[in-house]
Amino acid sequence: MSTKIKTSVVVIGGGPSGYSAAFRCSDLGIKTIIVENYLNLGGVCLNVGCIPSKTLLHIAKLIKENKKFVEKGILNNVPNLNIEKIISWKNKIIKKLSNGLQFLAHTRKVDIINGIGIFETPNILNINNNDNKYQIEFEHAIIATGSHPVKLPFIPYGDDRIWDSTDALLLKKIPKKLLILGGGIIGLEMATIYHALGSDINIIEMSNKILPSVDDDIIQIYNNNIKNEFNIMLNTKIISIDSNKNLLQVYMTDDNNKSIFSKKYDVILIAVGRIPNSNFINNNLFNIEIDNNGFIKVNDQMRTNIPNIYAIGDVIGHPMLAHKGIHEGHLVAEIIAGKNHFFIPKVIPSIAYTDPEIGWVGITEKNAKIKNINYGISCLPWNSLGRGLCSNAENGLTKLIFDKNTNKIIGGLVIGYNAGELLGEISLAIEMGCDAEDISLTIHAHPTFYESIGIATDIFLGLATDVLNK
Ligand code: FAD
Repeated sequence: MSTKIKTSVVVIGGGPSGYSAAFRCSDLGIKTIIVENYLNLGGVCLNVGCIPSKTLLHIAKLIKENKKFVEKGILNNVPNLNIEKIISWKNKIIKKLSNGLQFLAHTRKVDIINGIGIFETPNILNINNNDNKYQIEFEHAIIATGSHPVKLPFIPYGDDRIWDSTDALLLKKIPKKLLILGGGIIGLEMATIYHALGSDINIIEMSNKILPSVDDDIIQIYNNNIKNEFNIMLNTKIISIDSNKNLLQVYMTDDNNKSIFSKKYDVILIAVGRIPNSNFINNNLFNIEIDNNGFIKVNDQMRTNIPNIYAIGDVIGHPMLAHKGIHEGHLVAEIIAGKNHFFIPKVIPSIAYTDPEIGWVGITEKNAKIKNINYGISCLPWNSLGRGLCSNAENGLTKLIFDKNTNKIIGGLVIGYNAGELLGEISLAIEMGCDAEDISLTIHAHPTFYESIGIATDIFLGLATDVLNK
């Protein structure tokens, strides 16, 4: 026998997209239930993604910063690491945020049912958990089931020396030699963490560049900064892995299969992308449309082909970022509440929380070229920025892209200490349609990193005084 429940909205998945949608629904007076497979809300982001990785990256940054000042003779010694304490610090932060979500759900009277939701009809969802069976009759459903790591056919999964990002964030051990498969954001962030913790790291990437969305001049600065820290092998593929020895023997081939070579590692971390959790949604009775990559198809109101069923977050496609899903979650709640809103952000920022950090938003220079935009760029290297020097961060750069026809800012890339924070002003300026004069006439505090946005804009306008004008 199932417990039968009626609700206006059921949200399947309690990650950032799902709980944001549910909380907004509740605030708009709509009775809402979240169905979540795990015991905690927060999804990948809180439990095994954004939050644990950024906690560890902060510690990695402190370790590296400390080493730099030891090298300068300003600090006396590099401190010993206490991995147990790092783990409990990270877990404490997750717990605090997790408790916060439980409190918010409880206070908003959003019920959480634990278990896997499976559609029976476009108005009925069944949940089967160990303790009970539920049948939820709903008016609207929001699918927010997220994504999971891609699995590759030649990897000996089941071997505890083969990790994904979730394993890596547990810090079960600090491998002497770590191979990271994939030069995307997650791979590079994990390299940053494990290098700081003492691993010797190789990254293998089958394409000819890391972070392909980012302009080459920014990647060049990144490569110069990390060249003594870890080795990135581009145009390289794994052919096979021999897991029968003490160390994993990895056979690889470089560009165009010209040569085959092998290296030994303690652990291999697979970070080659994520795929949507969409295989549960359909049954013989009705069909929610998905694309060839498994992403649920939605319109600009997040509606699937079934009019009362919506989908948001990682499960509908790229960019797979928490802030995109949260925005979609708020939007879908307002649409269900009767507002005629649409998903039309001009830009979605991206950040690799590496060291140095890289952030980009809007049109990059390479995109401007492809789109034949009449663009102008303006860069301020942080060795000309007071705060860059004060903070031992002169390796940074702020690069802005303007449309020369309108003088409007259309994109920005920043590399350096806390680069992602500078995307706030650039994103807002793009959303608000600001031109270079608007930014130049905004007083930027001194000495700050975001002052670099004001100075780079003044360089574009020929007004800068901190550097020589062209
Ligand atoms: P998820 O967070 O994946 O949540 C989906 C939830 O649905 C899960 O809790 C799952 O248990 C549940 N679920 C799935 N199927 C069912 C079902 N049938 N029934 C019930 N429940 C179900 N993004 C950023 O913006 N910034 C970052 O810094 C960042 N860092 C990251 C670092 C790592 C290591 C990883 C792996 C990801 C990172 N991301 C980051 C991506 C971010 O975590 C995701 O974009 C975000 O979690 C997506 O949110 P979501 O709610 O769509 O899905």
